[in-house]
Amino acid sequence: MEGLLNTSIAAGSLALFWMLEAMIPAVPASGKQGVMRLRHLLLALVNALPAVALAAILGIADAAANAANFGILRIMDIPIWAHVIAAFLLLDFLQYACHVLMHKTPILWRLHAVHHHAEHLESTTAFRFHTMEVAIHGIITLAAVLLLGIHVLDVVIYNAIMLPAAMFHHSNIRLHPRAESVFRWVIITPRMHRVHHSRWQPETDSNYSAVLTIWDRLFGTLSADRRPEAINVGLDGFGPEHTETLKGMLGTPFSDARAELGQPVESQKNEQLRATPRPSTSIPRAKPTSRPATA
Ligand SMILES: [Zn+2]
Repeated sequence: MEGLLNTSIAAGSLALFWMLEAMIPAVPASGKQGVMRLRHLLLALVNALPAVALAAILGIADAAANAANFGILRIMDIPIWAHVIAAFLLLDFLQYACHVLMHKTPILWRLHAVHHHAEHLESTTAFRFHTMEVAIHGIITLAAVLLLGIHVLDVVIYNAIMLPAAMFHHSNIRLHPRAESVFRWVIITPRMHRVHHSRWQPETDSNYSAVLTIWDRLFGTLSADRRPEAINVGLDGFGPEHTETLKGMLGTPFSDARAELGQPVESQKNEQLRATPRPSTSIPRAKPTSRPATA
């Protein structure tokens, strides 16, 4: 049931975003856009396997937790509307926290690098995740949902909003400046998320939020605004054999290739970030390269 709902939402959202990407692109579309869209959708099909299995386990676990009245929100006597809002906020924070974990844990970064070595962003990049990342993320969510007392229906509602939100912030759409300034106070815009896909690490390690921007604001990970054209998307250290084929994407975590430190395009705007020391738990990337960054 949830699978059918998400497929319908994804199909409707893709039709809308592909039309907007053709009408108001933020940057010129890649010449390989068509084939990359197809590969991202194939990856989404592969990733549906762990997602469906975990959804089935969640359904069984939710029924057992209901019967045992287990979980923080379940034992709290709060109105239904407060429960729904609390569950949504908790699930969105969980997305943020898992995303930070993927960046800060070397072994998990190997998986998450598959999402980041895309050299062009468009709406289907939202599906570009390694299957093992999808499984690990699902297991963490399952455990947290049970502990927090979040119902399976709360997860269905959250996913129905998060899925189009993720396709939106990965899309190659240029919003009107006034719409951009209003949207970014509440939800992640394509312009904001593009900074997260910069190959320059201080920017890669920022703007982690999935739906609401509040988490980056609260935890100080919100990056400075930058023009989409000024951001060099991707990860240095990976060739087309990793970035452009389904086999390459699924094999990336097990290959010898490592992300290298990319360079900022507009370095003068980022002197302060450049001076920020890297945390000891940082992503294991090779030493800085003098290779000029490519767009
Ligand atoms: Zn990321």
